[in-house]
Amino acid sequence: MAIKTVGVIGAGQMGAGIAHVCALAGYDVLLHDLAVDRLERGIATINGNMARQVASEKLTEQDRSDAMKRIRGVSEVEDLAGVDMVIEAATENESVKRKIFAQLCPILNPEAILATNTSSISITRLAATTDRPERFIGIHFMNPVPVMKLVELVRGIATEEQTFAQAQEFVASLGKQITVSEDFPAFIVNRILLPMINEAVYTLYEGVGSVVAIDTAMKLGANHPMGPLQLADFIGLDTCLSIMQVLYEGLSDSKYRPCPLLVKYVEAGWLGRKTGRGFYDYRGEEPVPTR
Ligand code: NAD
Repeated sequence: MAIKTVGVIGAGQMGAGIAHVCALAGYDVLLHDLAVDRLERGIATINGNMARQVASEKLTEQDRSDAMKRIRGVSEVEDLAGVDMVIEAATENESVKRKIFAQLCPILNPEAILATNTSSISITRLAATTDRPERFIGIHFMNPVPVMKLVELVRGIATEEQTFAQAQEFVASLGKQITVSEDFPAFIVNRILLPMINEAVYTLYEGVGSVVAIDTAMKLGANHPMGPLQLADFIGLDTCLSIMQVLYEGLSDSKYRPCPLLVKYVEAGWLGRKTGRGFYDYRGEEPVPTR
């Protein structure tokens, strides 16, 4: 079955980015979020990001306008009934994702592929809760989706070769490059990246350096384009904490214990850029470190 229509669940940073690249590649996109304001904000973000691509001559105005016409926001899961593939990009929480798949499966065409953009949760376990583990796969995009070249493809234990091949073809059609990861907690990129970010938070927590000292050290000392705390704010501190919890519990190794300071920021609702405050405060003209 050729993929023509893609359903994207969750219109946050990732869902909006995924809808953006799918529409530009010519797919019809149905974007769903349970929060209507998030849906509206997601579509406005896509429009703004495409307008920036037009301004920097990466896109023509015609392409932008055609792609925007291919995206439709839908407030009910039932509206996704006719899609060929669903990419779930809702909050990084296993019970949230399970509920979404439970709602979705009975209404979807039996041939439709189910994909999740989870950063860390077991594909095999999520797949096992659905009616189609053989047509379930992890398609893990990087943030920001329109900019980042990589997509990790993750097979669950039951994923059929045909599903993998279709996902591979789909990702290539978006102009992205694939790396294949086995289904272990946090896959490849986040297995390596998140412990580094968590260690940066410990470095802050123990007073080894300030937010600016730590980010400057890694930018200029390790040639990273962004400091680890700036990057954590960009990813979302709730997502960072969830990934560390999945690593900690999934690998039963104390080296992955989430830093208490990361927990505290999340408890405060200081989730990074998306809420206006994290390790930096983004509410003014320039980001101001919060520590
Ligand atoms: P986000 O907080 O920006 O967006 C999540 C969205 O999901 C919100 O708009 C929320 O309203 C919506 N949502 C929650 N429950 C829902 C439900 N039951 N039905 C429909 N929508 C629902 O988070 P994000 O950064 O976009 O992350 C989404 C997913 O992508 C997570 O699984 C995350 O691990 C993964 N991911 C994130 C990054 C990153 O850098 N942030 C990178 C790769 C993958």
